[in-house]
Amino acid sequence: MDLQIKGKVAFISGSTSGIGFAIAHRLLLEGAEVIINGRSNETVSKALAELKHLVDGAIVTGIAADFSKVEDVNFLVSKLPTVDILVNNAGIFEPKEFADITDEDWFRFFEVNVMSGIRLSRHCFPKMLDNNWGRIIFISSESAVFIPDEMIHYGMTKTAQLAVSRGLAELTKGTKVTVNSILPGPTKSSGVSTFINDLAKQSGTSIEETEKLFFEKMRPSSLLQRFASTDEIANTVAYYVSELASATNGASIRVEGGLIRSIT
Ligand code: NAD
Repeated sequence: MDLQIKGKVAFISGSTSGIGFAIAHRLLLEGAEVIINGRSNETVSKALAELKHLVDGAIVTGIAADFSKVEDVNFLVSKLPTVDILVNNAGIFEPKEFADITDEDWFRFFEVNVMSGIRLSRHCFPKMLDNNWGRIIFISSESAVFIPDEMIHYGMTKTAQLAVSRGLAELTKGTKVTVNSILPGPTKSSGVSTFINDLAKQSGTSIEETEKLFFEKMRPSSLLQRFASTDEIANTVAYYVSELASATNGASIRVEGGLIRSIT
């Protein structure tokens, strides 16, 4: 299936590893021109080398910027060319008891997980409307709906992304611009692998057993009962940023292994 995005320019925030990296890889395979992002020049250079090695003839560049620093975001935006596809992927998570989540934590999570996408969309969206073509994807989470009691601040940011995404979609009426959210479930990214490895070390169990227990105890409604791969998420994103997905707009698309027990 030709996704018809050859030559489209795509920017993916937080794409030096994890889901963002897999999306960059997938879009390069489809012939898009990709701009990646991470917090430091070192991580960006390493990811660029990896992507060029993985995809022959890849047209890929990178811009380092930390979304917790507004001056970095302003720098990033000043360097961005016109973007056809924007994937708001950068995000942080951290399990913490509700009573221990400080004001600073709440604001930091909002800044990195929500303001990153708002600031980038504010820059890219008007140009997409002018060009009468564009795709914005917010990488939200199943945690937007199924708020995890071990990190309510994270859940709050993921729900907020759905509101921003739907609101922006309302402004696209009658155009060829779409704005959608993707809701991954537990996914084996580098961040999650570290989390599982730490959990296994703490409890003295194997990684396989820790993963099994994670699904049995913390995500019992998952029909998949395993972590999704980052490629499984990237495949879905690639379709929804494509020309072929032109009739899907303002949607929250679930890639969460059936974890959310609702039929709408
Ligand atoms: P990850 O930790 O493996 O990778 C995160 C990426 O974001 C990295 O490239 C990192 O450099 C970047 N990043 C982090 N903080 C940043 C900052 N301040 N500025 C710029 N870049 C920053 O994470 P992941 O698991 O791949 O998550 C990616 C997105 O997917 C996040 O928005 C996350 O909420 C969402 N998500 C992940 C899962 C999961 O289980 N992995 C599930 C649902 C949703």
